[in-house]
Amino acid sequence: MTRRFALMIDPAAADADRSDFADTFTLVDAAAPALSVGELSAQRGDGVFESIGVVDGHAQEVIPHLERLAHSAQLCDLPLPNQAQWRQAIEQAAAHCEQGEYVIKLILSRGVEHGPTPTAWATAAPASDFSEVRERGIRVVTLDRGYDLDVAENAPWLLLGAKTLSYAVNMAALREAHRRGADDAIFLSRDGFVLEAPTASLILRLGDRFVTPAPNGGILHGTTQLSVYEYLAGRGSDAEYGTIPASDLSRADAAWLVSSVRLAAPITAVDGVELPVDHALTAELNRYLLSPRD
Ligand code: PLP
Repeated sequence: MTRRFALMIDPAAADADRSDFADTFTLVDAAAPALSVGELSAQRGDGVFESIGVVDGHAQEVIPHLERLAHSAQLCDLPLPNQAQWRQAIEQAAAHCEQGEYVIKLILSRGVEHGPTPTAWATAAPASDFSEVRERGIRVVTLDRGYDLDVAENAPWLLLGAKTLSYAVNMAALREAHRRGADDAIFLSRDGFVLEAPTASLILRLGDRFVTPAPNGGILHGTTQLSVYEYLAGRGSDAEYGTIPASDLSRADAAWLVSSVRLAAPITAVDGVELPVDHALTAELNRYLLSPRD
């Protein structure tokens, strides 16, 4: 694919009883303007999205991504996506991806101000080359997220379990990490627990036990973390969800940030303190994550 692919989607009702959605898709020139200036995704970041990794033409973990899109839509009071329609949009986007790694984005926005329907579209584009990062690893700093672990329960309007388009805070955290000489950040709750990274989930290995923050503390439930846990369970490893104190970071025997496109990036240092890297397991995880997964 030399050019980006973009498909506008006329969203069907979640329960629409049809099997072919071809007439709800409009292929558009990804380099040309396609959205109205009244688009609320642009004005307010009011919408939800997914980023799906594509490897050699295979879109990874489509169902978990669509389930999370539906969960995000529900939290944001957006109409629930029609799963069959979005699956077909993903198939069309994946058909434009060649050998190598690509990323498909799904966007469901509140739509145009005072408009009748949400706006929806899908894009596909070559992914950045993360092969070196997967081997070399990343240095991270911890950053205060500014709220306690129970905030999702007490303030659901903060939409913390939703993958919303409002990523300005996440991007600001990455810039702060770069200013501090690191590659990435790990958010900590005010009360001192580990949450997630601005664009990835965290998995720690403590001895032969794996642990990741439980996805009820105001974090996204990562599809990659779920997939890695399935893999670890398959090889007989003990992989759990937990409430992880920040002090566990420095005593980890290995740690990774995992996400759909970068895959498993081993953490080499937290707040300037070196962390052991499990090179063999990192390579094994990335081999698995690069294999076709459904
Ligand atoms: N947490 C946040 C805040 C994210 O933005 C992402 C991905 O973008 C993840 C976790 C990891 O999710 P996934 O593995 O589904 O890509």
